[in-house]
Amino acid sequence: MIKIRNKADCCGCTACESVCAHDAITMQPDDMGFLYPVVDSSKCVGCGLCEKVCAFNEHYDTSLNLPIPDAYAARHKDMAEVETSRSGAAFIAISDYILEQGGVVYGVGYTDHFRVIHKRATTKEERNEFKGSKYVQSDIRGIFCQVKQDLKNGLTVLFSGTPCQTAGLNSFIGRKLRERLILVDIVCHGVPGPYVWRDYLAYLEKKQGAEICWVNFRDKQEFGWAAHQETFKFVNREK
Ligand SMILES: Cc1cc2nc3c(=O)[nH]c(=O)nc-3n(C[C@H](O)[C@H](O)[C@H](O)COP(=O)(O)OP(=O)(O)OC[C@H]3O[C@@H](n4cnc5c(N)ncnc54)[C@H](O)[C@@H]3O)c2cc1C
Ligand code: SF4
Ligand code: SF4
Repeated sequence: MIKIRNKADCCGCTACESVCAHDAITMQPDDMGFLYPVVDSSKCVGCGLCEKVCAFNEHYDTSLNLPIPDAYAARHKDMAEVETSRSGAAFIAISDYILEQGGVVYGVGYTDHFRVIHKRATTKEERNEFKGSKYVQSDIRGIFCQVKQDLKNGLTVLFSGTPCQTAGLNSFIGRKLRERLILVDIVCHGVPGPYVWRDYLAYLEKKQGAEICWVNFRDKQEFGWAAHQETFKFVNREK
């Protein structure tokens, strides 16, 4: 069974939790809100699948990788898309194509009061919430099984996330179903802790005496490409 001895050996991708048929694994937050697997040994039958699926081990399947990466640089033709995306809006162009073919798109949005989570979208309106970087580890619990179900139902799936999340999903899905799975991994220096984000929002609301109703981790339209400035709107207040 999986045992995290060193936190650097786990990115919280949930592949181990998703693969366990005995519901022996739950993802639990540490004191920064980062999720790690915890095994209930009374439910574990010792099958070893959780260790096998983990992308942080030497069995990780790289056989479908190109020997030399095929690299292209691209920027969306529509500047309105570029201005409202974090970078060149390649994600919007690729996901537009998938949605137009009847596929589904997974990406990062918000739930109750700007908690950062992965979500599923079948329309461009739903997908637009995924635009822009959210500099927090996304809660991805339940998503890998949903992706697998979509693939089993014959849908084409685009999944976007951090490189470690896409590696975990790639391993969890396995070779048979991979043909219809398109992985978009962002360039990523690492994810800040969810509780830092939660506590920062609470701090700002206390300081301003008003509830936050809109956030943007990097407002390119107002501050340009280079700035790394978070923007907030408060209820009945200016930005
Ligand atoms: C945590 C984090 C670290 C980053 N580190 C770097 C870096 O070191 N260097 C660099 O050049 N760029 C970095 N970026 C920026 C990132 O590479 C760009 O957002 C990416 O190039 C997307 O550009 P786009 O315009 O095509 O996407 P957009 O249209 O802006 O769409 C954003 C995409 O990012 C995904 N996403 C947003 N937030 C998260 C999240 N928390 N976890 C997983 N996926 C998310 C969405 O699902 C979507 O696919 C980072 C982004 C994040 C979220
Ligand atoms: S499969 Fe993912 S969540 Fe599980 S131990 Fe490995 S990296 Fe951590
Ligand atoms: S060894 Fe098998 S049963 Fe035990 S936690 Fe891992 S996947 Fe679940």
